[in-house]
Amino acid sequence: MALQDTQLERLRAGVDLLLRSNRFYQQRLEPLRTWEDFRRLPLTTKGEITADQQARPPFGTNLSLPLDQYTRMHQTSGTSGTRPLRWLDTRDSWDWWVRIWADHVYRAAGVAAGDRVFFAFSFGPFIGFWSAFGGAERAGATVIPGGAMTTEQRLRTMIELKATVLCSTPTYAIRLAESANAFGIDLAASDIRATIHAGEPGASVPATRDLIERSFGATAFDHTGMTELGPTGVSCAARDGVHLIESEFIFEIRDERGQVLSIPNAGTISGELVATNLGRWGSPLIRYRTGDRVEVTRDPCSCGSPFPKMLGGIRGRVDDMFTVRGVNLYPSQVEDLVRRQPAIAEFCIEVRQWRLTVRSRVLS
Ligand SMILES: [Zn+2]
Repeated sequence: MALQDTQLERLRAGVDLLLRSNRFYQQRLEPLRTWEDFRRLPLTTKGEITADQQARPPFGTNLSLPLDQYTRMHQTSGTSGTRPLRWLDTRDSWDWWVRIWADHVYRAAGVAAGDRVFFAFSFGPFIGFWSAFGGAERAGATVIPGGAMTTEQRLRTMIELKATVLCSTPTYAIRLAESANAFGIDLAASDIRATIHAGEPGASVPATRDLIERSFGATAFDHTGMTELGPTGVSCAARDGVHLIESEFIFEIRDERGQVLSIPNAGTISGELVATNLGRWGSPLIRYRTGDRVEVTRDPCSCGSPFPKMLGGIRGRVDDMFTVRGVNLYPSQVEDLVRRQPAIAEFCIEVRQWRLTVRSRVLS
């Protein structure tokens, strides 16, 4: 069956469920039979979900099943001054998360039985580490949690246990590399052969990725996902972007005029990524505005993936763009320049009227 037919079939069954029992979406949706019906549905914003959770705490009304059917609770980090969003998963929707990690993210990085995956995370209520952890286990690898450890303890654990894969944010991978230098640990000689990153665009920023790969003697992969939406994408061997996992989501693009368009069969399209998940019906999102600024193409990729690709990964947040002397800039473009200076460990960007300042901390 063609992908579009499978998507529509899952969508129909899902929307039927939401109309029966999801109070948040009952008021927003109409019965859905065709793609035209889908394209008439309203977009969902983070603001609406946040307001709903505040009006009906603690979980809001975007729930399609009785509360006792949910087996996991996670929450967002609450960046940009917003309150954290809480998100519940059923056994089925958690299985969906873990399966996407195993079948797409870890498969792209060649992770399988025999691998030892080290997770340099705190294991708080954020969903990323837990789903990555579950996915690696599903892929057959041995999983090593790195919570409640200092950076030095993490480094020594990775070396001693001969970890082959590291999962971390790009910034923390650089911190590990910097600390390894200070402790006289040769990371490039370690068993780490692949690193998988999420949470920031770094692993799709060429200079940042080069720095990580040189430090670890490994291949770095980028993964995109959101607590409220699911695991949406993974980078590939072509190394020029992140594929959108279209078998589990419907992706659309909202352009500058606010029009929402399908990804065309030829050429590229730019704008905000809009996504509908197809495997999380207990707490779904229909036509969700991700806030991520992307440029997407269906041009064939040398890796053979059937999925569209976000060129250069997520370019930034729609609201992160700033203009310097008439030129549109995203923080990731500044990062690509700053990371080419090997002495710089950390940096922050300050945007003031007429002036762009990059403050950096040089390696000690
Ligand atoms: Zn590819």
